[in-house]
Amino acid sequence: MNYFSTRDKSKRGFALADAAFMGLAPDGGLFLPERIPQVDMQRVEQLAAVSYADMALYLSQQIFDDVDAEALERVVRDAYDFPIEMRALGDGLHTLELFHGPTHAFKDFGARFMGRMTGLLNDGGELVILTATSGDTGSAVAHGFYGVEGVRVVILYPDGKVSPLQEAQMTTLGGNIHPLKVRGNFDDCQRMVKAMFRDESLRREVRITSANSINLLRWLPQSFYYFYGYCAWKRMTGRDNPEVVVPSGNYGNLTAGMFACRMGLPLKGFVAASNANDVVPEFLQTAEYRPRASVQTVANAMDVGDPSNFERMMQLCGEDVASLRGELRGFSCCDAEICQAIAEIHEKYGYLSDPHSAVGYLATKALGVDGFYLSTAHAAKFGEVVEPSAGVAPQLPKSLAEAVDKERKYLSIEAREQDLASFLREM
Ligand SMILES: *Cc1c(COP(=O)(O)O)cnc(C)c1O
Repeated sequence: MNYFSTRDKSKRGFALADAAFMGLAPDGGLFLPERIPQVDMQRVEQLAAVSYADMALYLSQQIFDDVDAEALERVVRDAYDFPIEMRALGDGLHTLELFHGPTHAFKDFGARFMGRMTGLLNDGGELVILTATSGDTGSAVAHGFYGVEGVRVVILYPDGKVSPLQEAQMTTLGGNIHPLKVRGNFDDCQRMVKAMFRDESLRREVRITSANSINLLRWLPQSFYYFYGYCAWKRMTGRDNPEVVVPSGNYGNLTAGMFACRMGLPLKGFVAASNANDVVPEFLQTAEYRPRASVQTVANAMDVGDPSNFERMMQLCGEDVASLRGELRGFSCCDAEICQAIAEIHEKYGYLSDPHSAVGYLATKALGVDGFYLSTAHAAKFGEVVEPSAGVAPQLPKSLAEAVDKERKYLSIEAREQDLASFLREM
């Protein structure tokens, strides 16, 4: 399988390793597979009934057809050794819980696969994954690459700006994970990382690559759980063609679902469930794309005003708004509604929802969705929002509780580009 960029379509034929290590295409576009494999849905349903890993292995074989079969199997089985669950809340509501991985957010599905595939594809010696984070991405990437041979991970995060839980998740692993606490804000962290990628002389000495959410190796495996959700929902309800509600920010998750449909998954369509950052729902109404600065909400992992994956969305619908409207409905809500929903879900169903998943719940009810919504994070990750809304403190999963108690190890650095460059040269 080869890959092409959403921008300059005359240059096709990027190999997997090249597309993966570049992240973004040289023309600034996003990579997509040149060919869309067609899957055997009967086979998918049989395998999903066995295990998530078995189903994911079959799907990844269809896409990564030029990767050694045994090596691919090791990647998939190692990446997907945690549960995934379709939960019936009551009143016909169903949610696919994607938060049972090591960092308790759905990003584990992409990051763990990417970590292991990067280790497999890297045959050029030591590789450094360099990333800036405001919280969630850093922990998923740290855990995704933890223990991967030949790869070191350097994570920059702003001092005092990530939650204690998030800091614990990034700084208690050790091994090949190197957290840098920057005396500055998230924008400083991003500026420093970008400067390293522009520094030709540094790049001749240190092989650096990024692990952000547009990377093909994080994006593609996110299509797999849509197949699993479909099979589980069909088995539980006896119905077919569900509509899937996706709490969205950067739209990696939702566009991966659109890709699953192109591979033959029979969904009715999707709902783009957003918080006050409603650029995509607005686009569906007006056909005008108006990127803007993000506004802060209680579902902060979805605070994106100019989603990176918008180009993939347009590519997948053939740049045709009418066709996109046939497949995707929009929904947005404000913070008060999100907090009210968390209270309501707890009251009616005795279930604690995190704020991002609560946006999915609101969309499901408001649009009368026949299908299921994705739950993207564990309620305990956002206790500071959930507890005052529901009146109960969510219990920390064991691994999170353990991380909080462990010793934190990080290096403090000034928000100076030359300090980061020296660190990378000397590490
Ligand atoms: C990243 C994230 C999202 C948004 O996913 P996108 O792929 O960026 O649309 C939603 N919920 C949680 C908890 C997240 O961490």
